Formats: sequence, structure tokens, C-alpha cells
Amino acid sequence: MNPQFAHNTWPQIKAALDSGKPVVAILPCGATEAHGKHLPLNTDNIISEGMASYALPALEERGVTALILPTLAYAPAEYAGGFAGTISISEAAAKAVLIDIGRSLHSQGFACLAIANSHFDPANVKMLREAADELRALGLKVAYADFTRRKLAQTLTDEFKSGACHAGQFETSLVMASRPELVDEAERTLSADNPASLTEAFAAGAKTFEEAGGPQAYFGYPRQATPDEGVDTYEKLAAALVQAIAETLS
Ligand SMILES: [Zn+2]
Repeated sequence: MNPQFAHNTWPQIKAALDSGKPVVAILPCGATEAHGKHLPLNTDNIISEGMASYALPALEERGVTALILPTLAYAPAEYAGGFAGTISISEAAAKAVLIDIGRSLHSQGFACLAIANSHFDPANVKMLREAADELRALGLKVAYADFTRRKLAQTLTDEFKSGACHAGQFETSLVMASRPELVDEAERTLSADNPASLTEAFAAGAKTFEEAGGPQAYFGYPRQATPDEGVDTYEKLAAALVQAIAETLS
């Protein structure tokens, strides 16, 4: 069957559910949000979809059928709200959609909902944690590799750990690895280093990227990005997702 959930017909999905093997639905969670002058608005969607795709071989090896759901491309994104193209929805709206998706999967017999998220806006992370807890209370297994937790964050790059990380080296490398045609190379090479830490700014009460020291909607070092780093990071993101799924199913 096609690993893209929605590219299958309903009898194909039914056959997978009837097979006796656990079927995991991976939901890429992104945003439609400004990412510097060099990356597209769908950067987080691309990254979460890549994380899910890179996880497939290891899941297959473990005897798990994994299907990638259509991406959740809208999320709370108020920090980027001052930039053209950002579409921010409320935490309540985002959570309601996620819970309804989970209910639907649960009623059909999916073994697990796996959340592949790369949109680290604090409101989005809070919403995902709450939604995961509420779905678990309804009886659905939920695997969520939360890269804002120290244990997983420390497996990622130095820029990611520094918090100077939005459309910087980390995210730019990932987009260069999977969708290079969507990176504006001229703007990337003009994007001067911006070491301002978003996580420190969040903690200090900044409410917008501008207040946090990102007047062009990026933080970090876009000029240092490479496709090789992107591939390396995809492998780490995917490994954490596979681990979360394996733990959830065990
Ligand atoms: Zn992003």
C-alpha cells in the first residue's frame, strides 16, 4: 500500500486494519508561518513530513505498518503574526481538530497516533501535549516525540540547543535536504547571523519575533546550512519518532 495515507482507497485501509499487524497513523504537524526571507511559509510542514518519511524504513523493519496522514498545516503561530503570510489559529481550534482526528482513528482500530511536530511555538507545543493527554484518556495510544524536552533536544544540533533556531541553520538545512528548490539561495546568503535565542526571549516574556530580536523572522545561522546537516538531522528526528512509537506500542 502507499505510505501516504490519503493516497489509498478505503478498502486498502480496511485491509491494513484487518491484517493483524498494528497500523500507526503519523500526523505531520507544521504551520503556515514566516521563516525568514529565504524559506517558504510551509517550512515546518516540509520538516515534519520529512521526519515521518525517514521513519518509515525502521518502522517496517519492526513489523509496524505506518501511514502518513495529510499534514496539519495550520497551528497557533502568534509570534510570527506580524509577518505577511502567517496564518495563526487558536489553541482551542487546533486542539479540537487534533482530538477529532484521534477519535476517528481510534474508532477505526488504528493502533496508535504518532505526532511528528517541528513547529515549536510554545502555544503549539502546549496544545500538542494537552491533546495527546486527552486522547490517551479516551483510550487511543499516542506517540509524541517532543523535541522541546531536554532529553530529545540534546540529540539535535548546537544551534537547536541554543534556542537561536527559527529558519536558521537547523531548519534551513532540513529544507535544503528535501526541497532545495524552495530555498531562496540569494536571500539565504544575505541573511546575517542572528544569535538571539528564541527560548530565552520566550522565557523573558517576548510575545513576537520582533520583540525576541528577529526583525526578519529568522534566528540563528542560515548561511551555515547544508543539505548534509539536513539529512543527518532528519535521521535523528526520525529515530526519536520511531523510538516514541515503539515505546507506545510495547
Ligand atoms: Zn519552523
